[in-house]
Amino acid sequence: MCRNAATKGSIISSDSFSPGEDRSRPVRRRVTEEAVLNTHDQSWADVAQWTCPHGQHAGHGCVTCYQASVDVDPSLPLWAVAAWFTTERPIPIKALQDVHRHDRDLALTQPSTPFVYLLSAQVRAALGAEAVAGVVGFLVQNRHIVDEFTVTEIRAAHS
Ligand SMILES: [Zn+2]
Repeated sequence: MCRNAATKGSIISSDSFSPGEDRSRPVRRRVTEEAVLNTHDQSWADVAQWTCPHGQHAGHGCVTCYQASVDVDPSLPLWAVAAWFTTERPIPIKALQDVHRHDRDLALTQPSTPFVYLLSAQVRAALGAEAVAGVVGFLVQNRHIVDEFTVTEIRAAHS
């Protein structure tokens, strides 16, 4: 399984990624930032784009960003974040379900492939990198859910 490093930068798209979109606001073009993570071939520009203010790569998660998202300026953009990751061992169903008890509309689901999971959430943050770092930071903070994981793809979108 060889994924190429087709990494996309900041793009404007009109896809409807977010399920929880606020339809009362005027229609604006969506901003989507996404990246396929490849540990062997990551350009510096991509690394810089995805580094949070605390110096952590969003794909590795940042506990400080996660904690900061508790009390955040409501005027900041609301990002729909998705992070796909793989694990060494399967996550118990109960642990998957318990994620819903946390705030921030966190959801941990298993799309189809074994050991591949999707963590999604809605968080307010100034930057897409901060939003993703905070959501992945949830995993870092909650090692009882998953002890070892590798984030393979990240996406943050807001309108
Ligand atoms: Zn951070």
